[in-house]
Amino acid sequence: MDLDEFRAGLDGWLDEHQAELAPGDGSSLDEEMAHLSTVKRLAFDAGWMRWGWPESVGGLGGSTLLRGYLGEALTARGFVEPGIYSMTEVLVPTMIGYARPELAAQMVPRQLRGDETWCQGFSEPGTGSNLAALTCAASRVDDGWSVTGQKVWTSLAQLAQRCVLLARTGGPDSAHRGITALFVDMDSPGITIRPIETMHGREEFCEVFFDDVLVPAERMLGEEGQGWAVAMDLLPFERSTALWHRGAYLHRALEEVLQTAAPDMLRADEVGDAFQQLFALRARSRATQHRMAAGDTLGPETSVDKILLATTEQAVFDLALDGLSDQVLLGDEAGSERWRSKYLYSRAATIYGGSAEIQRNIVARRLLDLGSDR
Ligand SMILES: Cc1cc2nc3c(=O)[nH]c(=O)nc-3n(C[C@H](O)[C@H](O)[C@H](O)COP(=O)(O)OP(=O)(O)OC[C@H]3O[C@@H](n4cnc5c(N)ncnc54)[C@H](O)[C@@H]3O)c2cc1C
Repeated sequence: MDLDEFRAGLDGWLDEHQAELAPGDGSSLDEEMAHLSTVKRLAFDAGWMRWGWPESVGGLGGSTLLRGYLGEALTARGFVEPGIYSMTEVLVPTMIGYARPELAAQMVPRQLRGDETWCQGFSEPGTGSNLAALTCAASRVDDGWSVTGQKVWTSLAQLAQRCVLLARTGGPDSAHRGITALFVDMDSPGITIRPIETMHGREEFCEVFFDDVLVPAERMLGEEGQGWAVAMDLLPFERSTALWHRGAYLHRALEEVLQTAAPDMLRADEVGDAFQQLFALRARSRATQHRMAAGDTLGPETSVDKILLATTEQAVFDLALDGLSDQVLLGDEAGSERWRSKYLYSRAATIYGGSAEIQRNIVARRLLDLGSDR
């Protein structure tokens, strides 16, 4: 199926199923997650969610642009919230690239169909930017690994069935060489999950404690000691292709600000700046989608996509704050809550997926060859 055919067919299907795909009034995380599962199940069963993924994991093949368009169309129409939808684009490519083929074939369809939620266990209390210093440890036992340690900021962990976990399997000084990636069942004995409330009032991420948690050997992603390579392959997806549909969401939000705000509340130069940034983001992001579709390996250049996303997201919601300040700052009704929540969440854009400073370091050192500690 080519992109034009996919677009026409999908747009028709989305029109036809609008009533089932549109979210209800509830805006809690549980309600959004339940709705996301419904949308993914409907889209998977109708075939749309399977295009752009390999047949070996339950997909229908075709260009990765097809799944990019699906995410864009679902977000642009407001059928899914882009943050929770993006976990598929972050984690599934890693499963395809590193899990045993039988494991990927078993698990990926569950994720695509919305039957399961997965989370990403990388950050720890002492380790975010400096990921190679992680200390959550896995030691060899008879038929696998025993994991003990702590993760933090693990998005959706309390709702997840599985976790892509980075653990130290080498000595304390083994840095990036001593890390192994594991695919962990979140209902394993020894896992304790404590949700953390964010400043926008949702328990969206968690502390996760591992106390002698047994992980079978066949749940290794890649080989022992290959966890750094897994992370370096995963992060470019988190910083680029997973953000393509977030551009559509920002476009929708910017249009809404302009339609809702009184014109004298907005400065023309700031509106112009926000549009300019949005179009730069979307152009860059589109080029990345095409590079992935052409079979290129995504790498450090995706930090540019992440920088553009973060600055655009904050510019759009800064404009919302200017144009709709009564609603964002003071209103009690649902619409005000929604704007306030989006504004506050936009502050996290310079942190999640690797902070803005770290992305600029990557651009300076890996792309521009400035500085020596590469
Ligand atoms: C909404 C949200 C969702 C998240 N979801 C997940 C998830 O699902 N799984 C997961 O594993 N993690 C998740 N994270 C964690 C995220 O990856 C980390 O917060 C991020 O990598 C920064 O790490 P840190 O918080 O430890 O900050 P630190 O690394 O302690 O950094 C603190 C500050 O110092 C700056 N800094 C640090 N080192 C340098 C340097 N070398 N040069 C210049 N400045 C530097 C940083 O830019 C930052 O401003 C999430 C975070 C957020 C906000």
